[in-house]
Amino acid sequence: MNGVISSWDLSVGVDGPGTRFVLFTAGCPLRCQYCQNPETWRMRDGRRVTTDEVMDEISKYQRFVSVAGGGVTISGGEPLLQPSFTAELLSRCHDSGLHTALDTSGLLGVRATDAMLADTDLVLLDIKSFDPATYLRVTGGPVEPTLRFARRLARLGRPAWVRFVLVPGLTDAPGNVDGLARFVAGLGNVERVDVLPFHRMAAGKYARLGLCFPLADVPPPDQGLLSRVHAQFQAHGVPST
Ligand code: SF4
Repeated sequence: MNGVISSWDLSVGVDGPGTRFVLFTAGCPLRCQYCQNPETWRMRDGRRVTTDEVMDEISKYQRFVSVAGGGVTISGGEPLLQPSFTAELLSRCHDSGLHTALDTSGLLGVRATDAMLADTDLVLLDIKSFDPATYLRVTGGPVEPTLRFARRLARLGRPAWVRFVLVPGLTDAPGNVDGLARFVAGLGNVERVDVLPFHRMAAGKYARLGLCFPLADVPPPDQGLLSRVHAQFQAHGVPST
């Protein structure tokens, strides 16, 4: 089975529990204003690989990530743009005893089969906004497929972490955060919400790629805003980090 990837890397703590082998697939249908990985947007900029090659690479780290309480995370780009490739990797990792995570915007959630989700120990679901107009402004796409996928994960009882990037003046409206907190609280399968403070560290990447970074003048959220947003999640009984 062939797929197109951008890169792989090791990470700690942010892409699932423990130390992770993170595979960044190439290609994404969204264009989030704060995207940290614009080099993954176009599939034609990626590298064609086989699942055997990826599994060979993963096997070099298998012992290390397992001992460190981690596993493998398939990220992107958008892994569900290549559902068969992603499904095979999740299945092979799962069969070899690795903890598996899928990092997705959920836009293409209908492409994830129940079998694929059964091989996925944790879904990292990026809900970039609850308010549809804000979601469209942030990502260029609709929010409803993501919310539908979130409800399906809940019905299937698949564990999920929701990720929400907090951008001052863009995603921070109290009603938007409150709507997301209420939605997540009603699902029952979400173990935590990661509130990710917006930062401008990717600005250099955009410049190198000749792309405009639309949030170049937006500051990171201050402590007061972060505290307010965490309090909003906690008010709905949703653990946030
Ligand atoms: S979904 Fe992820 S990879 Fe795609 S544009 Fe948004 S942040 Fe970037």
